[in-house]
Amino acid sequence: MEKQIHHKSEFITSVYSNGGFPKDCLPEIVFSGKSNVGKSSLLNTLLNKKVARVSVTPGRTQSLNYFKIDESFYFVDMPGYGFSKVPKDLKMKWRALIDNYLTKNHNIKLIIQLLDFRHQPGIEDMEMLEWLRASCDNFAVVFTKIDKIRITHRHRQLNSLLKNINMKKSDALMFSSVDKTGVEDLWNIINSAVSPR
Ligand code: GDP
Repeated sequence: MEKQIHHKSEFITSVYSNGGFPKDCLPEIVFSGKSNVGKSSLLNTLLNKKVARVSVTPGRTQSLNYFKIDESFYFVDMPGYGFSKVPKDLKMKWRALIDNYLTKNHNIKLIIQLLDFRHQPGIEDMEMLEWLRASCDNFAVVFTKIDKIRITHRHRQLNSLLKNINMKKSDALMFSSVDKTGVEDLWNIINSAVSPR
C-alpha cells in the first residue's frame, strides 16, 4: 500500500523572487492554500517525514519552497495566502512572485488546491479556484482536516462545499493528516501527474 512506501525527500531551495528556480526542469507538483489550512501537515504526512514546518505563526512561509522527491520531481510549497496581519506591500510582492510562477513555469504538472473541510471557502480561495478553472490544465481540490467533522456530518458538509465551489464529488479528495485519510488516493493523483504520458 502507498502508505508504506518510503519516498526520498530533500529540501532543495526557497525562492523569494523571480530568479533562483531550479534549472533541471523536473516536473513540479504545487501545493496551494490559505495559511493554516494544513498544508505543512499534509506535506509531512505524504512524505512521512517533517519536511515542512507546521506553523506556530500563520503566514510565515514567504517563499516557494522546493523539495525534491524520489530524485525525480518536485513538491513546491506555495506561501499560504489570506493571513491578514501580513503587511500589504509584502502581500503584493508574494502575489507578483506567485502570479509569475504559476503563469510562466512550464514544469508544473499539477496544482493541489487545499481547502479546509470545516469552513466555506473565503474570497481568496474562490479567486484561486477561478484562476485554476480558467488557466490550469490539471488541478485537484483536497479538503483538509476532515477528522474534525463527525463522520455522520461529512456527507452533508461535502455536498455543501461542492455546491458552493461548483464542483463534482469526483473532482475533490478528502484528507486528514491525523488519521491519514486520503494519503493513498492523493499519491495516486500525484504519481499519474508526474509519470510521462
Ligand atoms: P499550514 O499553515 O497550511 O501549513 O497549516 P499547518 O500544517 O501548519 O496546520 C495548521 C494547524 O492545523 C496546526 O495546528 C495543525 O496541527 C492543524 N492540522 C493540520 N492538519 C490537520 C488535520 O488533518 N487534522 C487536524 N485535526 N488538525 C490539523
